[in-house]
Amino acid sequence: MNRNNDKLLFTPGPLTTSMTTKVAMMRDLGSRDFEFIEQVKFIRERLLQLAGVSVEAGYESIIMQGSGTFGIEAVISSVIPDDGHLLVIINGVYGERISRMASIHRIHQSSLRFAENEVPDIAVVKEFLHENTDITHVAVIHCETTTGIINPIHEIGQLCAEAGKVFIVDAMSSFGAYPVDLQASGIHFLISSSNKCIEGVPGFSFVIAQREQLMSGEYNARTLSLDLFAQWKGLELNGQFRFTPPTHALLAFAAALAGLELEGGVAGRAKRYIENYEALAAGMKELGFREYLIPEHRGYIITCFHYPEDSSFDFVSFYEALNERGFVIYPGKLSEVNCFRIGNIGHINRQDIHNLVRAVGEVLAEKGILMDKREA
Ligand SMILES: *Cc1c(COP(=O)(O)O)cnc(C)c1O
Repeated sequence: MNRNNDKLLFTPGPLTTSMTTKVAMMRDLGSRDFEFIEQVKFIRERLLQLAGVSVEAGYESIIMQGSGTFGIEAVISSVIPDDGHLLVIINGVYGERISRMASIHRIHQSSLRFAENEVPDIAVVKEFLHENTDITHVAVIHCETTTGIINPIHEIGQLCAEAGKVFIVDAMSSFGAYPVDLQASGIHFLISSSNKCIEGVPGFSFVIAQREQLMSGEYNARTLSLDLFAQWKGLELNGQFRFTPPTHALLAFAAALAGLELEGGVAGRAKRYIENYEALAAGMKELGFREYLIPEHRGYIITCFHYPEDSSFDFVSFYEALNERGFVIYPGKLSEVNCFRIGNIGHINRQDIHNLVRAVGEVLAEKGILMDKREA
């Protein structure tokens, strides 16, 4: 793979990126430069294509400065009117984060919480929408990166379509690697960011929005900088951003999009990530690790493993020993279970996963950690 000698990142982002993507940043373009404006135009068009929609079909893409959270907050704070009522479906920390945003913006909200190792129960969501007819918007996470679980956005979208609700999906850690059908799933706003499955560098988020819903929110913004409608209008007017754009990150992203296309688009990328996941799952199982999720709920973006049962296991020293060997893994974020996570995404392949698994085995042996190798 074309990259430098940095440590490999087995995290949910920022990720290991290709040399081509990194090199694309070695320019200083002005934000009003014709060439830069062309790149932004290219990126916005490609994002719509990746989402399987188009301007003609009634969709728009909007780039927002900041990390992924800024894009979500732009949507939450810009599209729900004062008399709106948001339902947040939660099974992990990112769902909780949306609920927190709604509180800060004093948006009327309800939440439905499910266990972190369970997908939302469609029947419960249906019943809730049936009983609470004043709900106007529904938000859910696609890949809840807390555990790597894949939530049933298509089924939830169907319920929203039947009940006439605006549907918001945080597809931060899945977009580009999982196919999504915005039209069939009734998604009005989908949010993702530069540094996850498209394998760009951090710096911005983007929103794929159904134009009609976007326009109906013209006067709903609760902040100036995160005003989604105004951001879109600015980009439409002259192709420019309202405020300083992350020019280097956008150049890297254009290169990353070209890389995604070379790999065969979403299907090609999914194939490599699935291979990464399968190599990881097999290797870690062999070492005696147990996955947190049951097989039906597992995705191929990031995997959550239980700590070994051996009480001498210490995550920090385990992490540091892997880090010294050039591998960066990710801590857990579960409320009640001790887990750590390993990401399968970024410019990494099966061989990198094999090398990581070998290093994990070495670290366990070095620290004398006993693994329970009975079948999980
Ligand atoms: C990464 C991620 C975010 C956004 O995180 P940032 O650190 O703001 O980029 C939001 N939701 C999900 C599901 C994520 O994986």
